[in-house]
Amino acid sequence: MLVFVLNKHGKPLMPCKPSKARKLLKQGKAKIVNYEPFTIQLLYGSSGYKQGCTAGIDAGSKNTGIAVTTDDGRVVYKAQVELRQDIKGNIETKRRLRRSRRNRKTRYREPRFLNRKRKDGWLPPSIAARIDAHYNIMKKLSKIIPITNIVVEVARFDVQALINPNIQGEEYQNGDMKGFDSVKEYIKIRDNYQCHYARLRPDIQCSDELTVDHIIPRSKGGTNNPTNLVCCCKEHNKRRGDLSYKEFTGKDLPAIRDFRVTVFMNVLKDHLVPRLQKIAPTKYTFGLYTRRKRKEWNLEKSHINDAIVIAGIKPKQEVSVSYYIRQVRKKKRSLHEEIPRKGKSRPNRDAKRNEKNTKKIVTNNNYWCLWDKVYIPAIDKTGYISGFTGKWVYVQDIEGNYLQISEKYKQVNSKELRLICRNNNYICQQFISIL
Ligand SMILES: [Zn+2]
Repeated sequence: MLVFVLNKHGKPLMPCKPSKARKLLKQGKAKIVNYEPFTIQLLYGSSGYKQGCTAGIDAGSKNTGIAVTTDDGRVVYKAQVELRQDIKGNIETKRRLRRSRRNRKTRYREPRFLNRKRKDGWLPPSIAARIDAHYNIMKKLSKIIPITNIVVEVARFDVQALINPNIQGEEYQNGDMKGFDSVKEYIKIRDNYQCHYARLRPDIQCSDELTVDHIIPRSKGGTNNPTNLVCCCKEHNKRRGDLSYKEFTGKDLPAIRDFRVTVFMNVLKDHLVPRLQKIAPTKYTFGLYTRRKRKEWNLEKSHINDAIVIAGIKPKQEVSVSYYIRQVRKKKRSLHEEIPRKGKSRPNRDAKRNEKNTKKIVTNNNYWCLWDKVYIPAIDKTGYISGFTGKWVYVQDIEGNYLQISEKYKQVNSKELRLICRNNNYICQQFISIL
């Protein structure tokens, strides 16, 4: 467990132990600025001792791992982030409702054609939202931890190596990052981990271990290009030996269909990396190198461990705090109702905002906002406000289960709540883990 520290001017310093933070607070040398995560600010100038901190990001479309490691292998922050998946659906609903609304009792509007072009760098909203989320989380993190480097995993295999398998470069010269390894990995995935010769030569029993076979052998001028490679088991590979494709299978050379791999992989590289660059110098890496190193370091597979590996500094074994963060929708703003709400006979025709569609309710001398983290003493549980009904609120835990005091009602009286902290679009829970 660590306490995040800001200096007198609000710039991040290295996190410290809670005992030290307690001492500083007691002596009046610091003040608390945030409870989640616990952050203090020094009131006097400090020596400003800073170490290098590298952030690793295992970028994903649903779950993302984030870890920050110091140069000497202390993991000072690690989190798994669950991203919103409802963007695409919401945009489609919005589009459908607008389209139907347009043809109802509306005045005539001149057709417009000047808004039909997509701007340069346009991305589908669901992908743009994910990239924004990655950027926003790193930006927040850089305000409490002095991050000096960022490494992000952009794809499972190296695209450049696929296009040009004989690539030369700094990364490719040292042993375990040879370009051809990436091609091999890609071929296995492309061919669905199935032996190419299994059907062509059923007389030979396949073995478990998979490798990659050159259709035209290297010795006869075949290249490392993906179109000359197929996935194949060790046994078939051994038995083929120096035979040509025709001699081994009795068939002509196959036309290997190759996917256009570059399109979806370059999205992260071209859009996320330049944005992260604004926070700290950013490098990128590929999934197959992560996986290999994770096995080497004997870490279990998880988004957080992948992020630690991506950061590239071997961590020390220690008990520490992990964060589970979920991205949430702040408020529904639409007024249009397609079907009547539950308990009503007609839809919202006069477009008045429904009371439930609020981001805040005010009770006697307190106010409650959507996604406030609250503690319910009656059942000794902590949750997040997920909705309102009059002066009562719905409270969910981070997995989305309702926390209720009585069996009968889902909603909880706001008198029963104790505020822990306010939240915007991210709700967060800590858990203890051993690395
Ligand atoms: Zn085989």
